[in-house]
Amino acid sequence: MGKFRDFCRWMMIDPSRTDIAQAQYNELKFQIPALYALLMVNAAAVSYTHYEVAPFYLTVGILVPMLFITSVRMVSWLRASEVVLSPEDAIKKMRQTVILGSLIAAIYIWWSLSLDGYGGPSERGHVALFIAITVIGCIFCLMHLPQAAIMVMAIVTIPYLAYYLSRGEDVYVAIAMNIFLVCVVILQVLMNGYRGFCKLVETQKETERLNAENERLAHTDALTQLPNRRFFFMGLREHIHSVKADGTVFAVGLIDLDRFKPVNDTYGHKFGDHLLTTVGERLQMLDVDELNVCRLGGDEFGFVYYGAPDKAELIGKKICDVLREPYDIGEISVTVGASCGIAFYPEAGNTAHELFDRADYALYTSKTNSPGTVTVYSADHEARIRSERAIESALQIADLTTEFEVHFQPIVALPKKVVVGFEALARWTSPALGEIPPCEFISIAERSGLIQKLTLVLFQKAVTQIQTLPGQLCLSFNLSAHDITCPGTVEALVGIIQKTGISPKHVTFEVTETSVISSYESAARCLQTLRDAGVRLSLDDFGTGYSSLGYLHNLPIDCVKIDRSFVAGINEPVARSVVTSIVNLCRSMEMLCVVEGVEDSDQLSFLEGLDCRLVQGFFFGPALPFESILESALSSGTVAGLQLSETVNADSLKIASGE
Ligand code: C2E
Ligand code: CA
Ligand code: CA
Repeated sequence: MGKFRDFCRWMMIDPSRTDIAQAQYNELKFQIPALYALLMVNAAAVSYTHYEVAPFYLTVGILVPMLFITSVRMVSWLRASEVVLSPEDAIKKMRQTVILGSLIAAIYIWWSLSLDGYGGPSERGHVALFIAITVIGCIFCLMHLPQAAIMVMAIVTIPYLAYYLSRGEDVYVAIAMNIFLVCVVILQVLMNGYRGFCKLVETQKETERLNAENERLAHTDALTQLPNRRFFFMGLREHIHSVKADGTVFAVGLIDLDRFKPVNDTYGHKFGDHLLTTVGERLQMLDVDELNVCRLGGDEFGFVYYGAPDKAELIGKKICDVLREPYDIGEISVTVGASCGIAFYPEAGNTAHELFDRADYALYTSKTNSPGTVTVYSADHEARIRSERAIESALQIADLTTEFEVHFQPIVALPKKVVVGFEALARWTSPALGEIPPCEFISIAERSGLIQKLTLVLFQKAVTQIQTLPGQLCLSFNLSAHDITCPGTVEALVGIIQKTGISPKHVTFEVTETSVISSYESAARCLQTLRDAGVRLSLDDFGTGYSSLGYLHNLPIDCVKIDRSFVAGINEPVARSVVTSIVNLCRSMEMLCVVEGVEDSDQLSFLEGLDCRLVQGFFFGPALPFESILESALSSGTVAGLQLSETVNADSLKIASGE
């Protein structure tokens, strides 16, 4: 009983098999018109051979409406070849085809058998042949809809056999039996083919599903479940292509977390991953239309905003605000900021790559000038990029030994105001561009991979020159992030110290916190190598970066240089208390402390009041060319009017710093 019910359900087209119905429809739309054409041509041929012998109403009167209905159906199928049906419509269409097919089969068999009553043996033979070949042809054409094929076969062959049996004509009965058996066998073969067809459709569907899943995974970031970098660029390229030339403006934004690295270093990668997942959740929950946010890698995220351009900056701000909220992960609560850079299409660029680069430049500007804010790429930035490119080209062809030199700024010990050493500061006079300040060319040299070579040339010069000064003076030399993450450069620096014979105790390398953070592990290793060689290490620009006690503790640092911005703002209570606490902190950690940027006597008095021991700044003198320092040192034993310390070593520096 259950099997019969299943069979009936199958015959009525199982509504749950929408995929099969759609596939059937796609095959049938090419086969059914052929079926109708076969039916019409064959029927017309029978009508023609019976025209003389059978009544007019049968050969023409009934045939014409039959042909009309058939051709209407044929045209409707031909038209359908362009149409893609929804799953529900495909089911409906298959049911309709089974029912209409059965009806048409019934009409045709009734008509053919009615004609059999007229004419001689050859006309009657034609009818038998017509029915036989037409039913076989139709069954073949319906191979992708066996339900209809079964109905057609039953509706045609059973009356066919019954008719000849009732007339008791052995030859025709034999033909009808033959045809019946052939049809049964064909149906059997057809059913096998149909089962294979269903399997194929299922396999295709499964493959499609797997492909879609693979595609989704390939475009999703596994940690945050946001779309990934690949998706970001693909979507951007597609969008540029679709809006090309129609004047649409849209925004591309990049977001970078501030202070993520120290959080990751302090609490571990697992915590960092958790934090990024939460960032992803916050970004996914943003309730902004026409906004696509992706994770580009690390702590960098990107977005494309298709809405009104004047809202883009606000959206960037909203994202930064959302990401600035504290993160409570387990027992720990941390806060990281986010900076954002935005570039508009087509103003900032015409390709995905250009837009990304410009947004990245704007982001870099935010991060260096005012972290936590949004910067929109502008014409100013464009001009700056051009000038940077000019500097970069000049740098590429520069003769490092002749175009670059080192100037020396005195580092002064209080209270006696004795020069205990110098900070070496790079100077470049390009034959093409003139004098270029280090704050411009150093970062470009870093980016273009020239910094290590430049560092070694400058250090060699600085060491050789300071050695010719009378007394034993300390040399402070700035290293960039690239120097302190490159073991080769570090080895070469140590090599210069050994070759020139300068006492490592008289060499201090200045590094900034940010340069250490960018690649903490390798930086820490390189710094240890330098320290093992006997030099001192100084943390430069302290107070502007993370000012993390963790770094002071974990890295082999001997000295802290308080950034000049604090001295410049020494009239403000905040700056005063920052300077006071850093000086005290250094004292309690037994570290040296140099206060930079002392420009006037008021600032000096304040620092003297704090019992600061090492200072540096325009008040004592700017960085001067070596020749002028040498001349004044040799002639008067002073530099910038200050006495040169005669014996500067680690111990005298410690005395100078008040220990
Ligand atoms: P820095 O290491 O913080 O160097 C101190 C900067 O402050 C120098 O600028 C110096 O001229 C300036 N300065 C000194 N005293 C005062 C003062 O009283 N008031 C003011 N307003 N400024 C003062 P400079 O020479 O333009 O160097 C800028 C930066 O370029 C340096 O900052 C350092 O980060 C980098 N730099 C310079 N030479 C080198 C180098 O040889 N290698 C590397 N990697 N970086 C260098
Ligand atoms: Ca410095
Ligand atoms: Ca500094």
